[in-house]
Amino acid sequence: MGPEASDNKRVVVVGGGIAGGFMAKELQFGAHVTLIDPKDFFEIPWANLRAMVEPSFAERSVFNHTEYFPNGRLVISHVVSINKSEVVTADGECIPYDYLAVATGHEEPYPKTRAERLKQYEAEHEKIKASSSILIVGGGPTGVELAGEIAVDFPEKKVTLVHKGSRLLEFVNAKASTKALDWLISKKVEVLLEQTVDLNSVLDGEKATYQTSKGETIAADCHFLCIGKPVGSWLRETVLKDSLDSRGRLMVEETLQVKGRKNVFAVGDITDIKEMKQGYLARKHAEAAIKNIKLLMSGGDESKMATYKPSKGAGLALVSLGRKEGVAQLPFMTISGCLPGLIKSRDLFVGKTRKTMGLTPQTSKAKTSN
Ligand SMILES: Cc1cc2nc3c(=O)[nH]c(=O)nc-3n(C[C@H](O)[C@H](O)[C@H](O)COP(=O)(O)OP(=O)(O)OC[C@H]3O[C@@H](n4cnc5c(N)ncnc54)[C@H](O)[C@@H]3O)c2cc1C
Repeated sequence: MGPEASDNKRVVVVGGGIAGGFMAKELQFGAHVTLIDPKDFFEIPWANLRAMVEPSFAERSVFNHTEYFPNGRLVISHVVSINKSEVVTADGECIPYDYLAVATGHEEPYPKTRAERLKQYEAEHEKIKASSSILIVGGGPTGVELAGEIAVDFPEKKVTLVHKGSRLLEFVNAKASTKALDWLISKKVEVLLEQTVDLNSVLDGEKATYQTSKGETIAADCHFLCIGKPVGSWLRETVLKDSLDSRGRLMVEETLQVKGRKNVFAVGDITDIKEMKQGYLARKHAEAAIKNIKLLMSGGDESKMATYKPSKGAGLALVSLGRKEGVAQLPFMTISGCLPGLIKSRDLFVGKTRKTMGLTPQTSKAKTSN
């Protein structure tokens, strides 16, 4: 079969994040591609925390899907159901597919439009500026990176970070956790481990007083909830429910096909692949799935499908600590300070990610006004 055959195939990509957005971009000129996402924009998740202390940063890290996906159909809605031949959106639209890619990652409550998202960053920035004490709940990458951003940009603010685990950043090794903890303490962030916070705070004059599970009290002008978000609960209502593992992740073959399905692929954080959940790996999943969908669409030899092998051992992870420093878990060592900072913390891979999505690393004013 020639390229004309694949031109008529309908590919539906559910989720316009790191993996799904990239798949839609790469497949749009060889098939009828529909991208379904509840928001009209693509967002680089690891740039969020910088945008909270510097809202103009989001002008580059948040961009409209139409900027990289001009040749397909964009549907702004949640997918609520999937059956053997179509997906159903929350608005009641049934969208048929020949090939389906599920790339819904974690469930984040985003606003619908880019303009609203930029306003949200302005509001969060104002909230930080107006507070002299800030409570951050959750010591995973989001909580640690947010604490780092605030500690560097607003050193006069009292920041308290509460984490229920025995160490910060449990997805990396203990050495990296300790380095992040030491850095935060050096910036006068108070870190409370093995505690949870009752968010039903009591107002004490201007400040709220929060109780921890160990009976400590924290007075803070505001708080940010940075706890892990669920994955895939909506998939339990779909034809893929039997392909979910106990944590709600889609079980996939090495070809990224969902177990038991030939024409359904899953990529990114929603998969059960045993490795760290990272955007650069989500993109590698997408690359393999793109090759395989192209091969199947053109009637190619299935034994030649690309396979994805999870990275063995300690994976590569970089956590930024403010604008210049960071902590890096590399395959053979763990380092912190300015070197990881140079790699990630200055631009947070925003220019690089924009280029991957076919955009210029920088943005013109005209493009950003929305
Ligand atoms: C603070 C922080 C720092 C990080 N730093 C790094 C880093 O330095 N390097 C790195 O590689 N990774 C990093 N990561 C991890 C990275 O962000 C994720 O691994 C990556 O975003 C996963 O991509 P994804 O496409 O699977 O999911 P996402 O990027 O989360 O995209 C999921 C998309 O699906 C959409 N969606 C959800 N539900 C539905 C539905 N029902 N219907 C339709 N659409 C839906 C969402 O709106 C979203 O657009 C970091 C993460 C965090 C939180």
